[in-house]
Amino acid sequence: MTAKKLIAANWKMNGSKALVDTMAQQLTNLPSGVDVLLCPPATLLQYFPANRQYALGAQNISEHDAGAYTGELSSNLIIEAGANFVLIGHSERRQYFAETDTLVCAKMQQAVKAGLTPVLCIGETLAEHQQQKTQQVIAKQLAAVYAAQPELLLKSVIAYEPVWAIGTGESATPEQAQAIHAFIRQQISDYNSVAAATVKILYGGSVNAANCRALFAKADIDGALVGGASLKPAEFMQICQSAKD
Ligand code: PEP
Repeated sequence: MTAKKLIAANWKMNGSKALVDTMAQQLTNLPSGVDVLLCPPATLLQYFPANRQYALGAQNISEHDAGAYTGELSSNLIIEAGANFVLIGHSERRQYFAETDTLVCAKMQQAVKAGLTPVLCIGETLAEHQQQKTQQVIAKQLAAVYAAQPELLLKSVIAYEPVWAIGTGESATPEQAQAIHAFIRQQISDYNSVAAATVKILYGGSVNAANCRALFAKADIDGALVGGASLKPAEFMQICQSAKD
């Protein structure tokens, strides 16, 4: 329940150098009352201006330091490219690249060891949602991280992303999201009350300029992880502006 909201953009495998230029231009006058993080494809990180009011992040990280891991990006490479954050455990990585909780935890440890802030993505699938297993799934995902290394939760941002809401246009209602965010904060509090008070818990899943205000009004929603709408510079700026109040 921190004062300043964090709005994070996940461009996924989208964007271009031209979009970097347009977005950088659009974000020249960000309000000071909001923190902003852009996670474009890693090859685009180098094109953002050095003088900027927002942070940069990668979308994935290798669990290894360096070596014969073709196609992977180490923490050092990510840092050299200008990023301070990294998305870890996005549902698309869990679904399409078979990322397990064990691998997610190894990546979290690798990121924190290097001084990167992980944005840990958690959330239930549609089937789990329908079977009312949301709390069970989230508790398990958080417990895995705590078991791997208790301090990780102190050094992370959490993104609650119900998988059924990602890219579907069907956002969780503010009430649904608030209930789960409060549950997440309670779980973290059981591990570490300091972490629970300071951790930022973002909501992700079809956030746009029209629905973000009602989400941001909820006590335990500390910002958003935005996919599709983060590719539209004017709309993304509107979302950032809505979060400053
Ligand atoms: C995401 O990819 O993290 C996401 C939340 O996507 P969208 O906003 O498009 O649902």
